[in-house]
Amino acid sequence: MPERYLVSFDTDRIKEYVFATEKLREIRGASRLLDSLNDEGEMQRFMASVGPNYESIFWGGGSGAVLAPSWEAAERLIEEVETLYRTETVTASISGACMPINVESDNFGEKMKAAGFRLRRAKDEKAARLLPGGEAFTQPCASCQRYPAMTVDTDDNAALCASCARKREKEKSRKREGKESRSFDDLNELGERSRPSGYIGFIQCDGNNMGDLLTSLPKSDSYKDLAKGLRTLIEESTSKLPTESHEVLLAGGDDLILVTTADIALDAAICIAQRIENQSPALLDRVGLSGSKCTVAVSVVLAHATFPIAAFRSLADQLLKNAKRKCAEEGYRTSVIDFMVVTSAGSSDIATMRDEVLTEKSFVFPHGERKIRLTKRPYVLPKLKSLIDYARRCKDIPQSHLQFLYEGLFHSQAEAIYRWGKVAGRVNDNNRKVMDEFYRDFGDGIGGLPPWQSNRDEVPEGVDAVTALGDLIEIYRFV
Ligand SMILES: [Zn+2]
Repeated sequence: MPERYLVSFDTDRIKEYVFATEKLREIRGASRLLDSLNDEGEMQRFMASVGPNYESIFWGGGSGAVLAPSWEAAERLIEEVETLYRTETVTASISGACMPINVESDNFGEKMKAAGFRLRRAKDEKAARLLPGGEAFTQPCASCQRYPAMTVDTDDNAALCASCARKREKEKSRKREGKESRSFDDLNELGERSRPSGYIGFIQCDGNNMGDLLTSLPKSDSYKDLAKGLRTLIEESTSKLPTESHEVLLAGGDDLILVTTADIALDAAICIAQRIENQSPALLDRVGLSGSKCTVAVSVVLAHATFPIAAFRSLADQLLKNAKRKCAEEGYRTSVIDFMVVTSAGSSDIATMRDEVLTEKSFVFPHGERKIRLTKRPYVLPKLKSLIDYARRCKDIPQSHLQFLYEGLFHSQAEAIYRWGKVAGRVNDNNRKVMDEFYRDFGDGIGGLPPWQSNRDEVPEGVDAVTALGDLIEIYRFV
């Protein structure tokens, strides 16, 4: 029986490693360090130096899978790869796990999934061993504030820990080699290019069901093909975005994190999702999964460039969960995007905000037991495209009118209706047409009470009325 050993690898807490710091240069360096460590060619060479007859299935996005000729060879490779990560990054680590496999059987995808469970266990055991100690040190690293500073960088006299120094060195060496095309060195510089000035977009994107698609594949060849194809699909989903307006901070497995100028953030999210939806059928067809496509959940946080990265990440994670939930409700047939505009320091918990602030509880004049929602987020892809289109067409409407409408939403249901009528009576024919059409597409249309939508098919269970008007007015400065 042609028995081999399947070794799978996964970087531990990859996001914690990359986002250990608030500084763009070190985030960029960390991401590029992982890219080099995950480079297929580099890893082939490295494996050849460990021993003969390793066959790589894939490397990339912080994980990898390899067929080893024997149990001993598998264990040796795990040890060597773990050491390589420690040496190159100081603080990033990778775990490996192996299991025997009959390469001629028809359940390769299932085997990979089982290997994933073993890997999970290996990682948990390691995490228990590596609980942080309480060492005292004199000066913390200026970049991550976590580890003791070991060296001083000559660029800006920053005292850096060994890990951040590596990240910084990687970033510098890429610049020296002319491989770093971005001209900005921190998020404020990105914010300065933005409209409105000072704001940036933080985007997180996560593929739906990509693991299940892989698991369904019987042969290692098609698995290899799809794993690489999906990675390329996600990495290249940003290739059409203007270089000077965005930067990918992490492309790992089926997720992607990037920052953009605020004015392209929502379009970028749509562009990424659309590209993945459009290009995945051909890829899936090639491995025998015809008739399906990949969809994604995306979150977009728009906030000032000085907003902490950790806070961006926390909000983006919460929004992504909303989008994922909606993706599941939609049977994964379409991508879903959730977004928010951070205007004050108060918005740190999305669920609380949507349940408390963006409901009838905000009304200055509450009336009765009616349940109201002041947002229709998250949106399926075509609906968000349409909303953005309306936001652009709204630009002719005087800002004071939009502000008047927006504040009306938080007053009472009746006041919002009154204000809609008042503004509709004041604007020119063209703008009134935009309002009518918006209410036709995002409300109840003729016979309804704008801006409210009560049509049962469109309103969530237990809610009496919703409106998308607040969403429209929130994004119109950013499109
Ligand atoms: Zn550090």
